[in-house]
Amino acid sequence: MTGRPDPAPPTPAPHAPATVAVHAGRVPRTPGAQVGAPLEFTSTFHAGGATVYARDAQPTWTAFEEALGALEGGEALVLASGMAAVAAALSLVPLGGVVVAPDAAYNGTHATLDDRAARGELSARRVDVADTGAVLAALPGADLLWLESPTNPLLQVADLPTLLAAARERGIVTVVDNTFATPLLQRPLELGADVVLHSATKYLAGHSDVLLGAVVTAATDDGRALRERLARHRLLHGATAGPMETWLALRGMRTLAVRLERAAANAAELARRLADHPAVDRVRYPGFGAMVSIDVRGDAAAADRVAAATELWVHSTSLGAVESQLERRRAIPSEPHTVPENLLRLSVGVEDVEDLWADLDRALRHSAISA
Ligand SMILES: *Cc1c(COP(=O)(O)O)cnc(C)c1O
Repeated sequence: MTGRPDPAPPTPAPHAPATVAVHAGRVPRTPGAQVGAPLEFTSTFHAGGATVYARDAQPTWTAFEEALGALEGGEALVLASGMAAVAAALSLVPLGGVVVAPDAAYNGTHATLDDRAARGELSARRVDVADTGAVLAALPGADLLWLESPTNPLLQVADLPTLLAAARERGIVTVVDNTFATPLLQRPLELGADVVLHSATKYLAGHSDVLLGAVVTAATDDGRALRERLARHRLLHGATAGPMETWLALRGMRTLAVRLERAAANAAELARRLADHPAVDRVRYPGFGAMVSIDVRGDAAAADRVAAATELWVHSTSLGAVESQLERRRAIPSEPHTVPENLLRLSVGVEDVEDLWADLDRALRHSAISA
């Protein structure tokens, strides 16, 4: 004993994202305290404390928001669904404002822009987000740049650093829907985005059992000012995330890194094999992530036959789950017409890749034969 106070413990090294996904947003390590996140069902709280009413703040939200914020490198707000997050982000557009948006992206985003444009609330300039020059040319006079990358379902990739920097120079607010990439593959705030958006329903939650959404803003003064406006929208529009959904999504997020690693490896292998398949005209695969779209040789009916013939792949809308899913997107009436009729979107899951291939290959051959 020297009588000197103990030196302060060294600052821990920043952890890798896979570690952050497991550990961020946990309660302090107090002896006897629970290890997992709290799950609290209450609409109100005893007066005089930090939490007042559950439309404003909830303990279960805090855990999820801390974890997603840590992964994206910002501060997150959880909302009732991805579409609630879309509505919150679009609330940043002033009345009569101009939005530059992808000509093919998530159809709910398209439909919202169309509805709001029809009411005269905003106007939308549609651009091919893979054409950097076209996006840059559409920016003058815009209020908000909406990007999705890779896009749903064409899997086009936008040059985020260039586009976000150009928008920032002009004072245009930028939103990046990061649902397909996840923060493990792309962190838009670091590339200059103002708002990152997630349908947490997809990869973050990952098990086809919840609807949930989120927005993330930078931990800066400007970011916090935006977050205030988004939080106010959440509060006043009642886009309230349920505690059970939030808890399940956080539980799902704990395994995001391992799920995505396996799913992405499966997707890379399937994309490689599909490129040589006689029943496939075109493979759309950005080279990362676990989404692959294919143009089936033939028409919409041929693609429908494939979707109906798989036994392992689940024929259903949605994506990002442990189970592999497929869907002909144009079967949905609101899907943009820039999406080919014969396109099947494949959300590759974490099953054994040989089983996935055998099922898909059989369905594709069956479709070609029965044509
Ligand atoms: C599913 C999805 C949404 C909407 O999310 P919900 O949770 O279904 O409301 C938004 N953006 C993208 C890219 C999506 O895939």
